[in-house]
Order: sequence, then C-alpha cells, then structure tokens
Amino acid sequence: MNRTRRAPGTLCVLLAVAALFAVVSIAEPEAPDETADARQRMVRDQIESRGVEDARVLAAMSKVPRHELVPAEMRPHAYSDRPLPIGLRQTISQPYIVAYMTEQLKLEAGDRVLEVGTGSGYQAAVLAQMGAEVWSIEIVPELAQRAARDLARIGYDEVHVREGDGYRGWPEHAPFDAIIITAAPPRVPQPLVEQLAVGGRMVLPVGENYQELVLIERTEKGVERSRLIPVRFVPMTGEVRRGGE
Ligand code: SAH
Repeated sequence: MNRTRRAPGTLCVLLAVAALFAVVSIAEPEAPDETADARQRMVRDQIESRGVEDARVLAAMSKVPRHELVPAEMRPHAYSDRPLPIGLRQTISQPYIVAYMTEQLKLEAGDRVLEVGTGSGYQAAVLAQMGAEVWSIEIVPELAQRAARDLARIGYDEVHVREGDGYRGWPEHAPFDAIIITAAPPRVPQPLVEQLAVGGRMVLPVGENYQELVLIERTEKGVERSRLIPVRFVPMTGEVRRGGE
C-alpha cells in the first residue's frame, strides 16, 4: 500500500520540477539585453535631464540600437554622452543633440522627412522608429553604402538612402514635412527651404568656426527663422562650398 502510494507521489514531484524548468526556460528565452539598460540610462541622464520632453522622441531613442551603427571598436562607448568617430573623418552626433534636433521637428507618424548627412544612419533610424518616412542623402559613398546595409540589417530597411550631394535635396519626393541637416553649411541652403511643405520645419547647424542650430518654419505667409543653441558639427561639403545659392 505504501509503495503504491509513494510511487505516484515521486512522479508528481518530478513532473512539478520538470514543469518549473519548462516555465523558467519559456520566461527567459534569451540573454537579458544589457544595451536596453544602457539606452534607458542614456535617455534619462543625458536627454530628459536636459529638458527634452517629447515622449515619442524618448521612446524612439530608448529603442534604436545605437551600438549597431557605430564601428565595432566604438561599441563600448555607443551610449556615452558624446559624439563618436564613424570613420572617413565623420562623426555620429551626441545622443542629446540627436534628441534635441528631432524634438524640434515636431514629427507625426507618417510624416515625410529628408535628412542630409546620413553618416552612420542613427538619426535616420530614430526618425523611422518614430513612424516617419525617411529619405536620407550622404555624400561619402562608403558611408552611404554602409548605412544602407546597417539599417537594413537591424530592420530599418524602409529608410531610403541615396549617395550624393544633399544640397539640392531630393526633388522627386518633395515637399517634405520636415528636413534635418546634420552637417554644417556656412548658410542655409535655399534649395532645401524650397522643398519644405507649408507647415513644415527644418533644423540645421549653420556656421563655420562658430555654429548654431537654426530652425526654419514654413508658413502660409512665408519663412520664419529662429536661432536655437550653439553646436559643433562636421562641415557640409559639396556645392554649398562653391558659392551656390
Ligand atoms: N546624421 C548622422 C551624422 C553624420 S555626420 C548620424 O546620425 O550618424 C554628417 C554627415 O554629413 C557626414 O557623414 C558627411 O559625410 C555628410 N555630408 C557632408 N556634406 C554633405 C552633403 N553636401 N550632402 C550629403 N551629406 C553630406
């Protein structure tokens, strides 16, 4: 009697232990993502703490894997509070500046956005993560190719990347609800202002040794321009340097 009772009891314990293992392995299908913690800290300590409030910008930046878009040797610094070299004498902007500029665009899902200066593709990924349709132009061929490849690899394959001089924009897809330039021209490129939709916003660094972010808003009445904060970007090259207007 005892034996027949104990046997099912032991079986029950074994089944319970097996079930527990099964539950634990379902609950933890993969290693915890340490980069998610790094992104949360980046958003809280570098971005929110400096006054960026747009919840959609904060959400996008807590999702986009910045470490996947920097060169391998820079990965340990991907979430640091600074710009990083991405090769070919170019840089990926400091996370706070990406957040600040993106917030200025006041994006809505489905907005059409032009970026000049794809670089690593990080800014383009943040815009895409916010639901924008993104066209991005990069003048250094190797960077354009690398960004297009990296963006596709991490799932942002809907971003349109083109190699070329962004000075004349991308007229086939104009007008844009927002335009962001991430290299500094000596003055605002007029062809880009013309590709801005009425109600659209453009943000860009302007200047040479001293640069500041400028916000251009196109309204029914015309174009309004305001000065934001001092910044330091790589120079915009190409036609804008040849005295084009
Ligand atoms: N938005 C980028 C930052 C890139 S740095 C990122 O998130 O990583 C600025 C980039 O602008 C550089 O890659 C540089 O090659 C590019 N650039 C400079 N002048 C340009 C031009 N006239 N047209 C397009 N890209 C340009």
